[in-house]
Amino acid sequence: MARQVPLVRHRNIGLMAHIDAGKTTTTERILFYTGVSHRLGEVHDGSAIMDWMAQEQERGITITSAATTCFWKDTRINIIDTPGHVDFTIEVERSLRVLDGVIAVFCAVGGVQPQSETVWRQADRYGVPRIAFINKMDRVGANHQRCVEMMTARLGCRPILMQLPIGSEDKFEGVVDLIGRQALRFEDLSKGMQVQAGEIPAEMLDEVETARVEMIEAACEFDDELLERYLGGEELGAEEIRRGLRQGVLAAAIVPVYLGSAFKNKGIQPLLDAVIEFMPCPLDVPAITATDPKGNEVPVPAEDNAPLAALAFKLMTDPYVGQLTFLRVYAGSLKSGDTVYNANTQKSERIGRLLKMHANQREEVKEVYAGDIVAAVGLKTASTGDSLCSPSHPLALESLFVPEPVMGLSIRPASKALAEKLGMALARLAAEDPSFRVNSDEETGQTVIRGMGELHLEIIVDRLKREFKVEAEVGAPQVAYREAITKSAEAEGRYIKQSGGRGQYGHCKITVAPGEPGSGYVFKDKIVGGVIPKEYIPAVEKGARDAAEKGVLAGFPLVDIEVTLFDGSYHEVDSNERAFFIAASMALKDACHRAGMQLLEPVMKLEVTTPDDFLGDVMGDLSSRRGRVQSLDARSGVQVVNATVPLSNMFGYATDLRSATQGRATFSMEFSHYDPMPASLAQEVMEKVRAEREARRQGLAA
Ligand code: GDP
Repeated sequence: MARQVPLVRHRNIGLMAHIDAGKTTTTERILFYTGVSHRLGEVHDGSAIMDWMAQEQERGITITSAATTCFWKDTRINIIDTPGHVDFTIEVERSLRVLDGVIAVFCAVGGVQPQSETVWRQADRYGVPRIAFINKMDRVGANHQRCVEMMTARLGCRPILMQLPIGSEDKFEGVVDLIGRQALRFEDLSKGMQVQAGEIPAEMLDEVETARVEMIEAACEFDDELLERYLGGEELGAEEIRRGLRQGVLAAAIVPVYLGSAFKNKGIQPLLDAVIEFMPCPLDVPAITATDPKGNEVPVPAEDNAPLAALAFKLMTDPYVGQLTFLRVYAGSLKSGDTVYNANTQKSERIGRLLKMHANQREEVKEVYAGDIVAAVGLKTASTGDSLCSPSHPLALESLFVPEPVMGLSIRPASKALAEKLGMALARLAAEDPSFRVNSDEETGQTVIRGMGELHLEIIVDRLKREFKVEAEVGAPQVAYREAITKSAEAEGRYIKQSGGRGQYGHCKITVAPGEPGSGYVFKDKIVGGVIPKEYIPAVEKGARDAAEKGVLAGFPLVDIEVTLFDGSYHEVDSNERAFFIAASMALKDACHRAGMQLLEPVMKLEVTTPDDFLGDVMGDLSSRRGRVQSLDARSGVQVVNATVPLSNMFGYATDLRSATQGRATFSMEFSHYDPMPASLAQEVMEKVRAEREARRQGLAA
């Protein structure tokens, strides 16, 4: 079977936005217009379309799928869902990994808000090409110019206006299309389905020409031939301008900006055209690489006859078909019934049915190809981030970047009988979501779940109840502190027991040094001359790592540490892996105590929007929470405070802010970084932790 749609007419895109900017509404409108236009090819009767629209409205459009397929002008657009709330950073990472281009949705009033900034940085890390949609042009206070300025200042990108608004706020009628030099209006009666092209309003002509020059000059920067002709005074055609701009977008050097109001059905079709014109097809993005079983890097070309390489990027439970595993196929093809090899679990599995999810139906397909996104039914062992490949060509794709959880919650089953069920449910949830972790403290028998924020954990607990029917009791949220060393030190670990019979002999000398922030645990082996035989080195590595993970100061994971093994000794008979494991763990603890330790705490980035009258209260409250104000912006009648503040002081902030400002201030908060804690506060935390552990240990003994 051959592919129906050539790869050049594929777009895998996502929409990203700050919560409330209008991502859902925009997606809905995209699915609506693309659904209608798909039908238009078959049904030329106007009334049929209206019927279909009415029906569609009744049923509502489902956009909850991890990936939805639609068609616009013969191009297949796969829309990959990205979450609205920053507690789900892993979801953003996961989608960025499989999409090729992004529509960044901004609110014309709010401009670049903190979450849009975070998501933007994440997209920067992957070099994802972007176009921008400034939504809510109909709202009071809408200002696309300010939004564009904020994009430059806050995101450090280069926005290029592709349109100018006709009318503003409640008089927003449509846009001037700068390339086509025409006015586009979206007729209300047809829910904006009819786009009417017309003359540019006379009073806008100058403004249009100025903006047009800027756009054309940007296009010329990416194409020498165009530049030469432009400088020679030639008028460039629409296709040529698009060609130049497209190169700039693919290089992630410019961001074309579109305007509209999703809610008022304005501006969506030009945005869809822009997706086709400027977003990459799978062939335009640099080929990714994978690792073969020998550890060699091999390229993964987007070709149908190459060996299969697919990434499982999302697990979902569907009420009708059970578990769905969403896959992006990077290379090769995949048929239902094929056996695939999971490079992460090292197990083979059979692919059941393959489904494409549309707005209102699912389509069963027999085969998918390089560049496709599809949901597979019946995969049992694949977790989010796993690589699937052909059993004869094992390949591991780079997995996802997983952010570290900053908040923990102790959890236990409501009754003893539920313990096993709880364990299974938690394991299942952890397979779906790599940023969700489950830890059991062997000493105290306590289970702690960790995630990206209060909401993330709340949703997990709620899902336990609804989906898995497990009632659980949870403790108060706890901050996920960390430990780190402040300088280098050396230590020796000896685990030697040689009294009668076969003894134990493990002996190593190590140095520890602070690592780069975010480097985690790094181990270096500098043993020469076999003073510790090769076979015991992994045990030393694991022993030191285990001690670091368990923490040295107060039981929090010790991070950003570089451990170097440089000396030691062994005994022909008494040495074994366990002895070296224990010796290394002793050496690490000792070295860290000598190296001076500190506690790190998660610091959050906070944006509070408050009416002028309450600014003093908000600021005073922030400073009592150890907050540091970074900037203060006045916007029509409100003040926007940007600050960083330790997470430990932010529990219950929503309630406190509401009562201090009569519910008129709003805020958003997300993780920023880890910082050392002031010594006196660190002392308090450690004492509290010790007391709690002691209490639990005694409780357990009783
Ligand atoms: P999301 O959180 O980014 O998915 O945002 P939604 O699409 O849910 O929109 C948030 C709110 O803004 C909803 O009440 C929408 O009806 C409203 N909204 C979305 N787009 C527009 C728009 O273009 N104009 C106006 N005035 N409101 C909009």
